[in-house]
Amino acid sequence: MSKTVPMAENSLRGLNTFGMEAQALSVQRIYNTELLREILKSGISPIRILGGGSNILITGDQPFHILKNEIKGIEIIRENIDEVTVKVGAGEVWHQLVLWSLSQNLGGLENLSLIPGSVGAAPMQNIGAYGVEQKMCFDSLDAVELKSGKSIHFSIQECGFGYRESIFKNLMKDQLFITHVTYTLTKRAHRLHLSYGAIRDVLDGWGIKKPEICDVSRAVIHIRKSKLPDPLEIGNAGSFFKNPEIDDDQYQCLLAKFPDIVGYPQKSGLVKVAAGWLIEKAGFKGFRRNQIGVHKDQALVLVNYGGGSGKEILELSKEIQLKIHDQFGITLQPEVNIW
Ligand code: FAD
Ligand code: NAP
Repeated sequence: MSKTVPMAENSLRGLNTFGMEAQALSVQRIYNTELLREILKSGISPIRILGGGSNILITGDQPFHILKNEIKGIEIIRENIDEVTVKVGAGEVWHQLVLWSLSQNLGGLENLSLIPGSVGAAPMQNIGAYGVEQKMCFDSLDAVELKSGKSIHFSIQECGFGYRESIFKNLMKDQLFITHVTYTLTKRAHRLHLSYGAIRDVLDGWGIKKPEICDVSRAVIHIRKSKLPDPLEIGNAGSFFKNPEIDDDQYQCLLAKFPDIVGYPQKSGLVKVAAGWLIEKAGFKGFRRNQIGVHKDQALVLVNYGGGSGKEILELSKEIQLKIHDQFGITLQPEVNIW
């Protein structure tokens, strides 16, 4: 964000991690459900909802009123000998929630350390990392329907969580404002997930034989900081595409042709292929065109070096999709929300 050029009230430049400049009709900060209802009653339309702006690509000015979620608060609503259930304001910063849980020695969120963005956006794509998804601790959420202003409670069964998916990202897209998310966390006998990626190696390297949840969090933070571009330094929105899931026959054909292909068999019988491997194999890793490109270490992350436009990123993403389709017969789907 430039210090010399003052931003207009309706500028989105400082509100998205790609750092794209665009104007909205207005940006209104929502501090509580009552204020949200009042604003909806005023009849403003059309509306788009914004959290931390870390999973959107803005491709031009936004003819929308942007409701920026600032609903805060972490409240313990139930507790027993083993577990604590917390209701969290959807405008809390996700990583702050993780740090709070660790400060209380509550387990479940440690592998999801350092994921940017807000608590309210976590169920949107069922955020996941290092073998854990937020649905594993999810209890329920509260949302307000934009059309009617009515509150709706969603149990876990009603959210349709899948791999980087939920009904909020597809069937109910742009219809609801998530105001609170409720998670159940463990007080003791924490179940650690260490087998994914380099977590165990890092802990071993630190000489930690019996890790606690805070050690797992520190290891995840350490790995993430060493591998991922910091949006404060290089604009990005994390993985641009989802890892595609293909059937085993197609995977075996690809394996015969590309013995180094990276794939993980799923319970469903499908095989999840590392999209980063496909993009790297197609020659895009480190590719740069003017001020945008593909990150040099993480082919799944498209980047804005500063001054690039959302349209340019979108164009590049389509070129990548085409080439991957031609080369491997796989259609990559964007994980990032295109605005
Ligand atoms: P935004 O970008 O503000 O919004 C995303 C979408 O959700 C938009 O469509 C928006 O309208 C909608 N939305 C936001 N808040 C609400 C609400 N309260 N109610 C209704 N709709 C809402 N993701 C992962 O899953 N795992 C990772 O490990 C991961 N790592 C990342 C690393 C980096 C460096 C970056 C930049 C991103 C990463 N992401 C990751 C993606 C991103 O951080 C998550 O998807 C995050 O949950 C987005 O939160 P946000 O508040 O920034 O959402
Ligand atoms: P990585 O460890 O290099 O692995 C590459 C890909 O292979 C990952 O995307 C992961 O899929 C998959 N994978 C690796 N080990 C696996 C295993 N044991 N079982 C099943 N799948 C496995 O990935 P990375 O880029 O450094 O990211 C590490 C973690 O952080 C991943 O979980 C990734 O999803 C998450 N992350 C997400 C974003 C985002 O924006 N969504 C950005 C950065 C990092 P999964 O993605 O399904 O885990």
